Amino acid sequence: MSAAPVKLLLLGAGGRMGQAITRLAAGGMDPGFEVTAAVDRPDSPLLGQDIGTAAGTKALGVPVTADLDAALAAGADVAVDFTFHAVSAAAAPRVAAAGVPWVVGTTGLAPAEREAIVAAAQAVPVVLAANMSVGINLLHVLVEQAARALAGRGYDCEIIERHHRRKKDSPSGTALFLGEAAAAGYGWDLKDTAVDGRSGLVGERPEKEIGFHAIRGGDIVGEHTVLFAADGECLELSHRATSRDILARGALRAAAWIPGRAPALYGMRDVLGLSPGGTA
Ligand code: NAD
Repeated sequence: MSAAPVKLLLLGAGGRMGQAITRLAAGGMDPGFEVTAAVDRPDSPLLGQDIGTAAGTKALGVPVTADLDAALAAGADVAVDFTFHAVSAAAAPRVAAAGVPWVVGTTGLAPAEREAIVAAAQAVPVVLAANMSVGINLLHVLVEQAARALAGRGYDCEIIERHHRRKKDSPSGTALFLGEAAAAGYGWDLKDTAVDGRSGLVGERPEKEIGFHAIRGGDIVGEHTVLFAADGECLELSHRATSRDILARGALRAAAWIPGRAPALYGMRDVLGLSPGGTA
């Protein structure tokens, strides 16, 4: 007998990720999922439309609404949030008060906004991950290992990322996530060492620095390279997403994993069993 489907509340249902998740959930997966609520912004042109139809799959009988509190009260197993940094932060106390486990993929969170999500994780289990793909989370583990092995041996770390022209934050949340891995491997704090692009007479590169470089254009789903350059050789660890579906699949994996967990902040490394800890 198959288990009951996981009931999903999608926050940002009409967005690129919300629609990708809707299509996958409607397409039949193991375990099964059921979109039971679809929330988007009050002025979304999709309000009142069936989310399945809006996402280009079969009708699901779920109209897009702007009423998050009513959607939370309707009894989903998990809320999956791909919206905008300020939106996720504002949702945090409401999701916590409703007692609904929460998967947050939104990036570009300011420190205070991240704190709002961390606070919610005292009341409900929260998976917060800047990138939900298996490959990026494995890359995170590998970058930390590489940086640990290369620390103190003259290897400069630079992170180059490419995304589609509509991306709103820079550097990408994934680039920062990988930067945290490199910094942890080197034994540094990322906030003391991150440099966002270089322009003008910046002088010679100091050793204790992690550089970020963002390229924007076209429909690039997401590419990340972590480079370790020394005198005489250069090691590059790269990941290329060719479909948003890998991210949507990861979000669904987190959504299937989180119901019944103790309130805490989790990362995809927890969901995927790659290592203890490792929140994005
Ligand atoms: P998008 O702009 O296509 O979608 C965002 C959606 O949020 C839109 O439908 C928008 O109308 C909706 N929204 C805005 N304000 C809202 C509000 N007040 N209430 C409810 N909904 C609201 O963006 P996207 O490409 O789907 O990405 C969304 C976020 O997820 C971004 O921060 C992006 O960087 C991040 N992202 C993360 C991952 C990951 O794996 N963690 C993957 C892709 C994108």
